[in-house]
Amino acid sequence: MRTIDHVIAGGPAGGGGGGGRTSDIWDPNTGQVQASVTLGTSADLDRAVAAAQAAQPGWAATNPQRRARVMFRFKELVEANMDALAHLLSSEHGKVIADSRGDIQRGLEVIEFACGIPHVLKGEYTQGAGPGIDVYSMRQPLGIGAGITPFNFPAMIPMWMFGVAIACGNAFILKPSERDPSVPVRLAELMREAGAPEGILQVVHGDKEMVDAILDHPAISAVSFVGSSDIAHYVYRRGVYAGKRVQAMGGAKNHGIVMPDADLDQVVADLSGAAFGSAGERCMALPVVVPVGERTADALREKLIPAIEGLRVGVSTDADAHYGPVVNAAHRERVEKWIQTGVDEGAELVVDGRGFQLQGHENGFFIGPSLFDRVTPDMSAYKEEIFGPVLQIVRAPDFETALRLPSEHQYGNGVAIFTRNGHAAREFAARVNVGMVGINVPIPVPVAYHTFGGWKRSAFGDINQHGTEGVRFWTKTKTVTQRWPDGSALPRGSEDGGPSRIQDAFVIPTMG
Ligand code: NAD
Repeated sequence: MRTIDHVIAGGPAGGGGGGGRTSDIWDPNTGQVQASVTLGTSADLDRAVAAAQAAQPGWAATNPQRRARVMFRFKELVEANMDALAHLLSSEHGKVIADSRGDIQRGLEVIEFACGIPHVLKGEYTQGAGPGIDVYSMRQPLGIGAGITPFNFPAMIPMWMFGVAIACGNAFILKPSERDPSVPVRLAELMREAGAPEGILQVVHGDKEMVDAILDHPAISAVSFVGSSDIAHYVYRRGVYAGKRVQAMGGAKNHGIVMPDADLDQVVADLSGAAFGSAGERCMALPVVVPVGERTADALREKLIPAIEGLRVGVSTDADAHYGPVVNAAHRERVEKWIQTGVDEGAELVVDGRGFQLQGHENGFFIGPSLFDRVTPDMSAYKEEIFGPVLQIVRAPDFETALRLPSEHQYGNGVAIFTRNGHAAREFAARVNVGMVGINVPIPVPVAYHTFGGWKRSAFGDINQHGTEGVRFWTKTKTVTQRWPDGSALPRGSEDGGPSRIQDAFVIPTMG
């Protein structure tokens, strides 16, 4: 069986290493183990850090335009390999091919942003801050950065991180999810092919042992984490304690507020994708819908039921499927347990997706779509993230109640409002206690040159992913205050007849 190994510079073919422990990689469509991944040790990390330390000073000294050219070539290589990468991604994650392409494409948009790095790395300058004094600032790389990423976007999230970090002049060590590590490995190989020096992007695999080694390693200056909230909080605390810069994005429970004037057919179409796409395994999925007023709720429910029952669940290569299997059997069990908890807590299960079997793929990790109505804020099935194809209706009597629900929820990643009323939308966007807001946009993932980040338990640390905030995260600012002596005070003349005063050296000769 195939073993996926580290990508460490100077290692034996494929990187080598590991302390003998491995983890299974499943094919979610068939329910069979298809490969295994090496679970690395601190000794593997030490080798990667040594290679990064050897490579980084030269990379930082490479001018930003040349670094940008590597990013351009990488973008072209990923595009040329898009089909193979999308199939590889789907085969380990289970999302349909169109979603895998989207995963890669959204990551590439950050690479496009990174291609403009010479512009965004420019510092600030103040001439004449005092008598003869100028002040300027420059952004310098941190040295070695690390990224620890979740299973649900194995292409996009690594690219959010290493795209910006490497363009800024850092070396980067990626620890992808052990559930679908093959695409991150391919991305590292393509970066090398694009011209990134050996040691600038390396991949180490592993679980808690490797994560702890990264968090404690004195030569790693910054850690970017994306995953579930309890682990995000742990990573944040341990990394900061070790003196690192840390950003740690966590879980989510995003709400969609439906005002009485909303176009319900459009809302239902949007929810079919936003709640069930990628089997709900998205941190920006929309698993809670909040219709305002009983009439809106009844009308929405009536339209949602047939739409949800009509969703096609299929293998990830089925071009007509809305979504594929979830990532593994443990996750399927977890989602089905949450559905049972919702029932036990008194919510009305209108569509039950449990026990779904796909003909010919009876062992695959499939779950049918589920719809709950009359979910209330005191239920744990409402408070916690389910991360599966489950939509919950929470009825709100008025706008203020609807606004309070996402604002008071423990998570604050994304939220959306559906309305034709500009005033309601404007009020909502200004007052809601959530980091990313959509107005008639169900999944408001910001474009790459803006920044991505939630609030409350959806993110620990205060600097967002990508865009100019990403550049701020992966660089440190140095500020220079300069005063040059008056050139007239310098010793006169040079023997070769050059200018006698420093100012004269700057007289621009007339051309031709
Ligand atoms: P996860 O927290 O299980 O794993 C994330 C990373 O942490 C992986 O690399 C994993 O190896 C590592 N890890 C796992 N257990 C660990 C432990 N005990 N100690 C240290 N490290 C550990 O998350 P997941 O299941 O891979 O991904 C889904 C979660 O990620 C969901 O909660 C989802 O909302 C969240 N997510 C958030 C965002 C965001 O930007 N806010 C984006 C995508 C996913």
